[in-house]
Amino acid sequence: MSRGVGLDELAGARREGRGILGAVAYDTVGVEAIVTAGRRTGRPIIAQIGSSAFNHVDAGGLIAAARMIIERSPTPVGLHLDHSGSLEEIRRCLDAGYTSVMVDGSRLDFADNVALSTAAVDLARPYAAWVEAELGRIDGDEDRSIAAAGSGGLTRPSEAARFVDETGVDALAVSVGNVHGRTATPVRIHLDLLGELGEAVRVPLVLHGVSGIDGDTLAVACRLGVAKFNVNADLRAAYLAAVAEWAGEPPGDDLVGALRVARQRVTGVLVDLIAVLDPP
Ligand SMILES: [Zn+2]
Repeated sequence: MSRGVGLDELAGARREGRGILGAVAYDTVGVEAIVTAGRRTGRPIIAQIGSSAFNHVDAGGLIAAARMIIERSPTPVGLHLDHSGSLEEIRRCLDAGYTSVMVDGSRLDFADNVALSTAAVDLARPYAAWVEAELGRIDGDEDRSIAAAGSGGLTRPSEAARFVDETGVDALAVSVGNVHGRTATPVRIHLDLLGELGEAVRVPLVLHGVSGIDGDTLAVACRLGVAKFNVNADLRAAYLAAVAEWAGEPPGDDLVGALRVARQRVTGVLVDLIAVLDPP
């Protein structure tokens, strides 16, 4: 039975230069793909179910179903709230059994981000859940790729060290050229800056927007202190392509077949990424 993905697991990954995948799911097909990828590779993996899904389904129902699927996993699968700016939502998810949360105050100024993130840490401690926060601003859209994204606001190493000290967060999402969603031209990850952040901050770093970043860069990021890698756009693309191909033109009515192929394709993307982040 899954024991979740705890802070010890995350800290161990950082120490050993491995990466753990945080994969966004919008429905139980996605959750099953995540659990299957964990089982197939024998690696810990984190299912991220947050406002992206909550905006279109009954949140409580999806969380309950996800927990049931995750609890039967023989390998560790975390349940993580991604990008939440609401302490109320964080509390609800912790009550529902989430093993970690991300508080996102990246659009606030430094002092307000510190205050919000500190409050989230205080909230999570009694649940033994760990907290990820964001400093700097990652550009793009979390649920769909957009034509052009700017470079966001890069995370400054000196500020990052102060931020982690003042808030007590367990993991830090950084902005180093990464973008949410696929981009027309490849994103350039500022590895020098990532190296400086890895030196300045001892907690595991988190890289959002993995879709479209090449494997060599991801492997280097593992060695520079990134222990959690968030993926979403490539999973959405694999899901939709599978459904479209299976349905054909004009689309038939084999929904069961389409969902099966979608689950298999999403699992495949996850397994391939895990092989890069935590090679056998
Ligand atoms: Zn993100």
